[in-house]
Amino acid sequence: MKKSSYFISTRIDDFVLYYNLVNDTLLQLPVDRNEGCIECLQNPNNTMSIYWPKLYEDKFIIEDDYDELKEIQRRHWKTVNSADELNLTVISTLHCNSDCTYCYQRNLGFEYSEMTEADFDGLYTFLLGVPQKKIHINWYGGEPLLAKEQILKFCAKADKDKRHTYSYSISTNASVYDEKFFRMMERYGMTNVTVSVVGAGEVHDALRPSTEYDSDRVIKNIISMTRYTSVVVNLNLCKSNIESIKEIFEELSGYRHSSLSFSFSRIVSYAHRPCAEIELDVDTYMKRVIELANWALDHQFRISDMSCFQNFGVYCGVYAKNNYVVGPALYLYQCERSYNPSDSFAQIANGALVYHLNRTDCAGTELCLDPYQVDECRACKLLPYCNGGCDYLRKIGKNACPPEKDYLEEYLKLYYRIFYEKR
Ligand code: SF4
Ligand code: SF4
Repeated sequence: MKKSSYFISTRIDDFVLYYNLVNDTLLQLPVDRNEGCIECLQNPNNTMSIYWPKLYEDKFIIEDDYDELKEIQRRHWKTVNSADELNLTVISTLHCNSDCTYCYQRNLGFEYSEMTEADFDGLYTFLLGVPQKKIHINWYGGEPLLAKEQILKFCAKADKDKRHTYSYSISTNASVYDEKFFRMMERYGMTNVTVSVVGAGEVHDALRPSTEYDSDRVIKNIISMTRYTSVVVNLNLCKSNIESIKEIFEELSGYRHSSLSFSFSRIVSYAHRPCAEIELDVDTYMKRVIELANWALDHQFRISDMSCFQNFGVYCGVYAKNNYVVGPALYLYQCERSYNPSDSFAQIANGALVYHLNRTDCAGTELCLDPYQVDECRACKLLPYCNGGCDYLRKIGKNACPPEKDYLEEYLKLYYRIFYEKR
C-alpha cells in the first residue's frame, strides 16, 4: 500500500479537511483526530489503524500498483473526446459600446467584426446536421446584446429544430436590457448570464468609459435580469477598483437571496493592450479575492465556485473536442482569445466544417495540447487539479498555472464554505 501523491488538507475552525485531487473525495475530521490520520497516512500498511478503512475507501491510501497519473490522464482524454454535447462560444459581434481601458480586444485589427445574417443562417444550417443531441451556445462579443435581434431570430429558428435541445448563456457588460429579449431567451433555454463589472460611479467611468451607459444602468439591468435567469456578477479586479469594489455588493445587497452570485477575475496587461500600471500582481490579487469571498459569504452573498475541485479532467473547454469558438465569417477558433482567420483551425461552409490545411481536430491531436506531455506539469502535484492550466497563456509565453496555485488550501476552505456550510 502507498499514500496518494495528490491530496491537500486544510484546517477550518475545529476540524480538518482532506481533499483527494484524483478522486475528488472530501474527508472531514475533528482536529483532535488529525494526528492519528497523519500517522496512518505515513504507515499505509497499518490496516489495524481505525483511520485506515476510510482512508482506503476514499483512496488516500491506494494499492502499490494503482497508477494515479494514468487515472487522471484517462479522465482527461475521456472529456477531450466526449461526444455528448456540443459547446459553442459564438462571437456575434466584436463591436462594443464601452471603451474599457484594459480590454484585451483593444488594438486588434479585425478582418471581420460581426456576424452577418448569412453567418447566422450558415451556423444554423451547420447545427441542424451535428450528431450531438444537446447544443449549448454562449453568446459572446464584443457586446453580444448589440446583436440581440439577430440572436433572438436565431434562437427562435433553433427552437423549431426538434432533433436537438438547445441551451444558452450570455457574457455581457449589462449595458443593454430588453425585457422581450430576456423573456424570450428564458423560453428558449437560457441557463445563465455572466456580467463583467468593474465598480460604481467614477471608478466605473474611468475603467469603462462609455457615452451610452453608466454604472447605475448596469446595476438596474442586473436586477432586471435576475427575474429571468441566474446572473453571475464577475468582478474584474485591478489596482483602481480593489479598494471600492464592496460598493457593488452593497448596491446589490437586496438581491443576495435571488439567483445572483459573484465571481472574480484579474485584469491582466497584454502586449497589444498594456495596462500594467493598474494590474494587481497575482499574490495581491489572490489574497484580496480570498478576503473578499470570505467577507461576502459572511454577509450572506452567494459566491460562484471558482476552483477546479470536482473537475472533468480539463482546465477549460479549449481542450475538449466538441467545444469551440465561432467567430464572424464562421471561422472556428479553439479559444475565445483568438479573432483572426489566420489563427482559426476551420470554417463552416455550406453546412459543414472545412478544416484548414495541416490542421486537424483533437482526434488528430494537433490542436490540443496534451498536458501530460509537458514535463513541468507531469512533475507537478497539482496536475489533477488544473490539468495543465491555460493553453492560451502558455502559447503566448506567459505562465499557464491557475492564479490560485499557491493558495489551494484557502481555496479548499472557500469550496467547503460555498457547498457545505449551512446558512
Ligand atoms: S499548469 Fe502549472 S499548476 Fe498546472 S500542472 Fe502545470 S505546472 Fe502545475
Ligand atoms: S485557454 Fe485560457 S484564455 Fe482560452 S478559454 Fe481556456 S482559460 Fe480562457
